[in-house]
Amino acid sequence: RQAAFRTDISTLLEQVGTGKESLSFMKRRIRRLAAQWGTAAHRLDGKLRGRWRDQKRILVHVGFLTEESGDVFSPKVLKGGPLGEMVQWADILSALHVLGHNLKISVSVKELQGFLGVPPGRGSCPLTGPLPFDLIYTDYHGLQQMKQHMGLSLKKYKCHIRVIDTFGTEPAYNHEEYATLHGYRTNWGYWNLNSRQFMTMFPHTPDNSFMGFVSEELNETEKLNIQRNKVDDMAVVYGKEASMWKGKEKFLQILHRYMEIHGTVYYETQRPPEVPAFVKNHGLLPQQELQQLLRKAKLFIGFGFPYEGPAPLEAIANGCIFLQPKFNPPHSSLNHEFFRGKPTSREVSSQHPYAEQYIGRPHVMTVDYNNSQEFDSAIREIMRTKVEPYLPYEYTCEGMLERVHAYIQHQDFCAPDIPLPLANSSKTRSGSPSGPFIALPNSTGLGWSSSVSAPPSWPPLSALQLFISKEAQSCVEACHHEGLVCEPTFFRFINTKEALSRSEVQCEGVETEMNHIFPAFSVVRKECGLQKEALLFSCAGLSAKYRRLCPCRDFRKGQVALCKDCL
Ligand code: UDP
Repeated sequence: RQAAFRTDISTLLEQVGTGKESLSFMKRRIRRLAAQWGTAAHRLDGKLRGRWRDQKRILVHVGFLTEESGDVFSPKVLKGGPLGEMVQWADILSALHVLGHNLKISVSVKELQGFLGVPPGRGSCPLTGPLPFDLIYTDYHGLQQMKQHMGLSLKKYKCHIRVIDTFGTEPAYNHEEYATLHGYRTNWGYWNLNSRQFMTMFPHTPDNSFMGFVSEELNETEKLNIQRNKVDDMAVVYGKEASMWKGKEKFLQILHRYMEIHGTVYYETQRPPEVPAFVKNHGLLPQQELQQLLRKAKLFIGFGFPYEGPAPLEAIANGCIFLQPKFNPPHSSLNHEFFRGKPTSREVSSQHPYAEQYIGRPHVMTVDYNNSQEFDSAIREIMRTKVEPYLPYEYTCEGMLERVHAYIQHQDFCAPDIPLPLANSSKTRSGSPSGPFIALPNSTGLGWSSSVSAPPSWPPLSALQLFISKEAQSCVEACHHEGLVCEPTFFRFINTKEALSRSEVQCEGVETEMNHIFPAFSVVRKECGLQKEALLFSCAGLSAKYRRLCPCRDFRKGQVALCKDCL
């Protein structure tokens, strides 16, 4: 069936259910943004010009909200606990509903079993009939629950699953055997999914799919009013829990010399001791009231935690400048408690790397907070700088609808893969080298002869451009350096001797093995390597010893998830 855009959200609201503060929060958000989603639907509808869209049967199982996972979030909704996940789930539900798909929502194992048609009760009871869904969106908790309650059949159906995974999962952590052998095993990873089945909150490594969320959009009149009413010496602090303010007196003192400081810190009866008396604390605010505060404020200031939440985008969308600390050295699972055990080696260069790298000045200033002078002058600069409210397209409702639409219509992890080169321990000579690596306009010369056409691909193969990384550089960085983005789907097309032979090294031998750095070559040792395991193709991987073959592609302005010909 053809999916038809929906603008009425009443059936969605009914489906979300009641009884938990988290569900009420999500419903308030869905209601508040309904008009905005409606407008976006009309626009996307116009853009797609009646193109056929399959209506999918979709199950959304929000694992972290189930009692069975302990549901630690719901009781904290009104107490300053994390809300980013709920923001994202509310927006995912809205997007799927508005796109016109057939949705079922579950927030308990019982509902999950009911929808899947597995007999209730504990134990691993395999699903008997066919899977009654085309797609299942869940999270790591939900995945675990499905494993417990679908048993053997999970393996069969796992290509239908999408895992909402805030911080991302890199291929080396996702592949069970490889992770176990090479020290990438964590509590979360090793599900052997296609890494693009993990969907993140921000565009981290393109090995995962970027799902995102939305922020409120303003019309031109609102934008003008905001700019007119900005209070140049008003700051709002990022941090709704008192612990986030701990040890920040020094910065607050400096800031207080110039500005009136507002906070939205949850408190029970008294001002929390971490929040100095000169701060106007409003207590945790409903999203809408926080937005009003941000419309007046000039500065939204972070002190390092929470990492990578939605609030800075909301602040920038309401015309604030976001000031945040640079992390030097960067935080990661290797050196920071918060990221420890998360299935990624990603280096987090500031409190909000997306704001730093994708938005930047004048909306975002990332400075060294250990340098009081730098901090001080940043504040003075912010007070003088005029900015317009700004929201990247990918965080608008239309941007999110466009992206989710493209994923649903084009991503297929159930289709059989084209075969990779066979394991091959015998060393073979490869062709002669050529100069430094050059972008390729098409697939010819990569081992796909022009008489045998390359298999269909999404993104289309025409978007492929091949580059070589430096030593110790990932493909994420190598492509970024060219103004492009790494596209993991294309690895299989460049995992060939022909592609290697274009590199500047004369391979003395080509090994085919499981290695998340491959395809790559070592200049010093004249060794070349091809990838044996498709699940290990990794944009994120890097090694001091190897230069990597990197499949890059273009992207739409403001929509990094999609190439120019991807829609
Ligand atoms: N928020 C809110 N009231 C407040 C402060 C924040 O409703 O007083 C909302 C805010 O609008 C944002 C969400 O909390 O959408 C998540 O914010 P944050 O960036 O702090 O991320 P988290 O750490 O909660 O995931």
